[in-house]
Amino acid sequence: MKIRFLGAADTVTGSRHLVDTGTTRVLLDCGLFQGYKTLRERNWAPLPVAPDSMDAMVLSHAHLDHSGWLPALVKQGFKGPVYASPATLDLAQVLLLDSAHLQEEDARRANRGGWSRHQPALPLYTVADAKRALARIVAIPAGRSVSVGDAHIRLTPAGHLLGASSVSVQAAGRTLVFSGDLGRDDDLLMPAPQPVEHADVLLVESTYGNRRHPTEDVQARLGEIIRATTRRGGSVLLPSFAVGRAQALLLVLQRLKAAGEIAADMPVFLDSPMASAATALYQRHRRLLRIPDRETGQLTDGVTLVATPAESAGLVRSRWPKVVISASGMATGGRVLHHLKAMAPNPRHAIVFPGFQVGGTRGAALIGGAREVKIHGEYVAVKAAVSHLEGFSGHADADGLMKWLGGFRAPPEHTFVVHGEPDAADTLRLRIQDELGWRVSVPEHDAMVDA
Ligand SMILES: [Zn+2]
Repeated sequence: MKIRFLGAADTVTGSRHLVDTGTTRVLLDCGLFQGYKTLRERNWAPLPVAPDSMDAMVLSHAHLDHSGWLPALVKQGFKGPVYASPATLDLAQVLLLDSAHLQEEDARRANRGGWSRHQPALPLYTVADAKRALARIVAIPAGRSVSVGDAHIRLTPAGHLLGASSVSVQAAGRTLVFSGDLGRDDDLLMPAPQPVEHADVLLVESTYGNRRHPTEDVQARLGEIIRATTRRGGSVLLPSFAVGRAQALLLVLQRLKAAGEIAADMPVFLDSPMASAATALYQRHRRLLRIPDRETGQLTDGVTLVATPAESAGLVRSRWPKVVISASGMATGGRVLHHLKAMAPNPRHAIVFPGFQVGGTRGAALIGGAREVKIHGEYVAVKAAVSHLEGFSGHADADGLMKWLGGFRAPPEHTFVVHGEPDAADTLRLRIQDELGWRVSVPEHDAMVDA
């Protein structure tokens, strides 16, 4: 077996790993590079392997850093099937179409502003490209394996996000396992990642390879913030990722109401059509969640799902105390910006970030204590109370990763640490070497290995 690390080696995003059995080529994940500009520029480079030479693709889960380049791959000539779990197929519809809309919008904005080096600026892919890519996804039912040439592919639930899976590729008596993104044992919605017992070659993610999650009780802290804010007549804004995090917030808000920790009639608004669509998918796939069906069914009870931009604008103007969940999660775009502009200058309100904030984003500036932020070209004073709830992460931390690795019955011949910033990947590599005694390395971007 040969492996070529085409992305998410030396960084967290752009997950793409090519497995070549000698007769069959399978691409594991096809993610977008995100974050710093030098990384994003990789999205525009063609893959160094001809897309039509690949027989199949497997999607570990629907997050864009794992799935978001798929429309570009299909546009460049990939013609094979894309295998994914049924829930990943459903979530990919929501995420890839939204991503395509954003690509089209970015190109339009660049053309209006005239700042593109290309005239006219073209989107990385269009909605039509995304639809063609989505049509290639084939669901692998739980517990089944599919064959592509001499390779057999199987998925194992990995927690983390609805539908997220680890991927096993078996060929010529050898098994390669790719962890995908691994969830945590104490996730609010998803069960713990399932262990995989055997691998000859292992690719393991390391997003939190050098970190330990804080032990804060997110429900208790959010309850305190909401009570304190409403006592002073203010509202609470929760900038949130639309898929995964928004559903966890809805669950926590319902539990706070049921426990009498916040008023049962506290108005809650979900101002993100993508989050509403994702919530319906979490409800459709409720048997994959760790919470009782009753709670899944009640996630949006008493919650106003804000649909149109006009309804959203009306909500921004409203003055009564309320809780608003809106995207994007790092306040880099989307409807949340209108709420932020209206609420940030008023010290009565609270802005609570329930997710990791990447450096350089408005969210990172706000949790860092910025006294003003620029929104839609205007400087907005920040007088509202800003806080950060770190305990909502959907990733296993370093101890969680080590626990999952402990599920293998025998050491893999070789373990490759991927999907982490250099420091996180190297810290996990050292722990695997020192604590487990395994043969382990961190591949470089575009490295090719025989395994
Ligand atoms: Zn993920």
